[in-house]
Amino acid sequence: MKLSQIARVGLRAMSTSAKPAPSAGVASTQGYNFTLTEEQKEFQQMARKFAREEILPKAAYHDKTGEYPAEILDKAWNLGLLNTHIPAEYGGLGLGTFDGCMLAEELAYACTGIATAIEANTLGEMPVILAGTDAQKKKYLGRMLEERLMCAYGVTEPGAGSDVAGIKTRAVKKGDEYILNGQKMWITNGGVANWYFVLARTDNDPKCPAGKAFTGFIVDADSPGVTKGRKEINMGQRASDTRGITFEDVVVPAENVLGQEGMGFKIAMGAFDKTRPPVAAGAVGLAQRCLDEATKYSMERKTMGKYICEHQAVAFMLADMAIGIESTRLVMQRSAWEVDQGRRNTYYASIGKCLGGDVANKCATDAVQIFGGNGFNTEYPVEKLMRDAKIYQIYEGTAQIQRMIVSREILATAKQMAGY
Ligand SMILES: Cc1cc2nc3c(=O)[nH]c(=O)nc-3n(C[C@H](O)[C@H](O)[C@H](O)COP(=O)(O)OP(=O)(O)OC[C@H]3O[C@@H](n4cnc5c(N)ncnc54)[C@H](O)[C@@H]3O)c2cc1C
Repeated sequence: MKLSQIARVGLRAMSTSAKPAPSAGVASTQGYNFTLTEEQKEFQQMARKFAREEILPKAAYHDKTGEYPAEILDKAWNLGLLNTHIPAEYGGLGLGTFDGCMLAEELAYACTGIATAIEANTLGEMPVILAGTDAQKKKYLGRMLEERLMCAYGVTEPGAGSDVAGIKTRAVKKGDEYILNGQKMWITNGGVANWYFVLARTDNDPKCPAGKAFTGFIVDADSPGVTKGRKEINMGQRASDTRGITFEDVVVPAENVLGQEGMGFKIAMGAFDKTRPPVAAGAVGLAQRCLDEATKYSMERKTMGKYICEHQAVAFMLADMAIGIESTRLVMQRSAWEVDQGRRNTYYASIGKCLGGDVANKCATDAVQIFGGNGFNTEYPVEKLMRDAKIYQIYEGTAQIQRMIVSREILATAKQMAGY
């Protein structure tokens, strides 16, 4: 069954009840409640089946070759597993962040490189969902549902990643058009995207605050002057296509400005409130896989007359992995739930993203440790997991930047309470 069929049945069932029909994530969390709805269980089962049957067996191949997983993405698109956040009025499923996280965790369990390729569409689309006009949404979100297209989020540059306000790409208005020049770096889906969200400086005054100096654009990837760089050979998540993109005198129609000129920084950063929870979910999926692989291996491998899981030192590593996974899953779900309620979730989203990155790396390192020498070898699954885990402490805001955001949030609340 396709995701849309499950959603239709679920939404029909909900619409016959006296209650309004909120997104499934909201429906499951009336009051404090850890129970998924029947519809959510079906979503989860469908994504799990797809991940285990279609992604997992091919993950090592795509990791080894770096070949883009086009066939898997075609199948995922057919089932409705791509672009799940596109609102219903534009033909999408309009799933909430909570539901998106549930799916992201399942897909990441099988291969976070392939899951990242899928999630990068959500990241590219989010500025359009948040700030696009009706016409922009119809055109750019609508086409994602007609064909299996990819898009990308282009903010980072060779000289500026964490320091978003330091980006140098410029857009100059000429009549009804903008002329875009600059270079983006590390753009996921960069080589396969049909269109990009691009953040560019539109106010040259160095004193202009970031909140007014930048503008967000939708840029067609086939525009003259757009050059895609070579596919980067990364440490992990090698199925995902990461590239630099150069813009040289690219003409962008003014109708492709998101929101208004000067609103780009807020739009670009605002998207993270909805996309960091699924990134944390990806980290949870990877960490869970580490625990499952390590548990299985520890029950098969014997040393000194015992299965290694019977040595307390090994068993406690499994326990620590589970403690990290369960706590990350909870805060990740909380961050998704908050934003589905329409509340600002920046604090929880950064805690979840930060904890997810750290826990995924700890779990992957410990899984390799439990596998011993085999863990260091490509014939076993955990060395890939360790390479794949690292990026969770880097993309969508590094571990340090998340801590900066969390500490700012704490101090802002404390100052407000103290009355200054
Ligand atoms: C595989 C991959 C995929 C990516 N996908 C995308 C994408 O699709 N779109 C996109 O726009 N970007 C993408 N990125 C870019 C990613 O978001 C940046 O790499 C990241 O934000 C860090 O920026 P940087 O690499 O410039 O590191 P820098 O900002 O130079 O940071 C270097 C180090 O300094 C630390 N640091 C920096 N500033 C501070 C500070 N103020 N306080 C404390 N520590 C600090 C950082 O935490 C880090 O440890 C991707 C990156 C990779 C590697």
